[in-house]
Amino acid sequence: MPLFIIHVKCDQCSSTHPTGIVLKLDDGPIAEQSVAAFCGDKPVPKELSLRKETFRCPVTGDEFMAKNDDQLLIVPQRHRF
Ligand SMILES: [Zn+2]
Repeated sequence: MPLFIIHVKCDQCSSTHPTGIVLKLDDGPIAEQSVAAFCGDKPVPKELSLRKETFRCPVTGDEFMAKNDDQLLIVPQRHRF
């Protein structure tokens, strides 16, 4: 099953950070796509409901949360660890 890593657009430093969240999705996107774009009109599945998660910016050291599903990116992982 393909692996995907969740990245988050950081509002502290305006760059994108990997969250360390790894998911297996049967029908995940082929290229990087936001959770909002991936789900479209469908309800966001539980494993992609990450708006209550707290992330830490490695640049500023501050914690932040994703304000919307556009900030959360599903990134296909081609190489297995
Ligand atoms: Zn940051």
